[in-house]
Amino acid sequence: MKKKLSVVIPAYNEEKNISFLVSELVRTLTSTIYDFELILVDDGSKDNTLNEIKVQAEIHPNIFYIELSKNFGKDYALKSGIDLAQGDAVITMDADLQHPPQLLPRMLKLWEEGYDIIYTYREEANPHVKAYQRIASKLFYKGINALSDITLENGISDFRLLDKKVINELRKIDEYELFFRGMVKWVGFLQKGVPYTPAKRHTGDASYSFINLAKLAIGSIMAFSVRPLYIATGLGLFFSLASLLYIPYIAISYFAGYDALSGWASLIATISFFGGIQLLVLGIIGMYLGKIFLQTKQRPSYIIRSTNLSVMKNDYIRV
Ligand code: UDP
Ligand code: MG
Repeated sequence: MKKKLSVVIPAYNEEKNISFLVSELVRTLTSTIYDFELILVDDGSKDNTLNEIKVQAEIHPNIFYIELSKNFGKDYALKSGIDLAQGDAVITMDADLQHPPQLLPRMLKLWEEGYDIIYTYREEANPHVKAYQRIASKLFYKGINALSDITLENGISDFRLLDKKVINELRKIDEYELFFRGMVKWVGFLQKGVPYTPAKRHTGDASYSFINLAKLAIGSIMAFSVRPLYIATGLGLFFSLASLLYIPYIAISYFAGYDALSGWASLIATISFFGGIQLLVLGIIGMYLGKIFLQTKQRPSYIIRSTNLSVMKNDYIRV
């Protein structure tokens, strides 16, 4: 029996990309030796994306849609597709054709060679990325690698192939702040990275704003690490030791005949400095507390409004 591939694609306001994407993928996949299904997840789009997907689903019997009840974000859209996919391997990719389908044969070959996870990362010189975006992305990966226990390549993407045994593990994970790129690294298995040069977005603009990306960066570091909390301890230790040094300084000044009270300005500076540090540290603690709060509520990570997949009442979905 032929092995089956599931291609999961999250789409948010991608109406102009759907038909081209589908024709490209269908062409690439029919030339392989595998059966395949395309699962397009409409992540609460405000444009005609869902209808475009439904039109494609009418034409091709192996195209399926999942309509989420609102915009949950890319990672949750991915999770919904992964939860319902039935293939022996799941391929995740973007709807804007930045992830070149031409790379699929190479990824499939590596899968046949026995790798469980084939992930891709952007090649350094990417002509479609602005300089400030490149710097921001470098900082993000430096930050997450330094502060957490996983290591992510610079420019690692959501274009990847996952074997069924990895999918079975990923399905068990139900975290409030899902960061797939990190999670896929964290699960382990036999992994292989493949570099790629992203294409230009087929049409439309990237939907992530700078603020969204900053939130994503902080969220993903916190999802994989409690190290920021240790920073608090470190800072506290450092400054209490440093302030001990201040005591001999005052004593010596006193005996040397200087007026020990003269340091009003430095006193205020010190107080406000420590006030700031304390608030910062409280803030970090508070952010983790907030995340514990949200996780304990155990809300589902996504809600499906409709789908033409027949496995809606899958074990993994809480309905
Ligand atoms: N996407 C989504 N939900 C969102 C935002 C984006 O499903 O809330 C999808 C989007 O349609 C695309 C992919 O995620 O298929 C990547 O988004 P985008 O191209 O905007 O970001 P990039 O990573 O290329 O900057
Ligand atoms: Mg894109």
